[in-house]
Amino acid sequence: MENSNENIKLGICPECKVREKDSSEKKLYQCPYCKEWFCKKHIEPKLVMTWSAIERTRDPILKEKLYEEWRKEGGHPDSVWTMQYFENLEMKEKEEREKFLKALDNIEKTEKSNQYSKSLEVSKRKISPKDVTIILVLILLIYFIAVRNITISIFILLVLTLIAVIFR
Ligand SMILES: [Zn+2]
Ligand SMILES: [Zn+2]
Repeated sequence: MENSNENIKLGICPECKVREKDSSEKKLYQCPYCKEWFCKKHIEPKLVMTWSAIERTRDPILKEKLYEEWRKEGGHPDSVWTMQYFENLEMKEKEEREKFLKALDNIEKTEKSNQYSKSLEVSKRKISPKDVTIILVLILLIYFIAVRNITISIFILLVLTLIAVIFR
């Protein structure tokens, strides 16, 4: 187990020295990423990236994230942390992409099964026994009307009405 005091020492913060010309001795903390020592204000790791590199970023969401990181006050540019930042980002994006593809796959599958059941319904309707019977009786009716047999024609018309009522 590491003693927390081991991660604190007195010294000159390199960020304060370079950026603020402040070479006074301060309590310094060790950065867990680059292992350098910084004051409280500069201990937070920041992206090692130029403004123009952010400007060139095409992905608008990533660009916004990078601007946000850039705008953070204090901290120190840390290449180790920057690498980890982008690795995590890539992993997250990969996960999201996979989730998205999975969701897309599921949508396609449901659409296909829906189409399949729809076509089944259509074919069921096509071979409905009611339709077949009515068509056959209609042909009979037309035949008997054609041969001028009024009694049989009326009888068939009655049967047709019955069928229509029964199968409804
Ligand atoms: Zn500092
Ligand atoms: Zn660092």
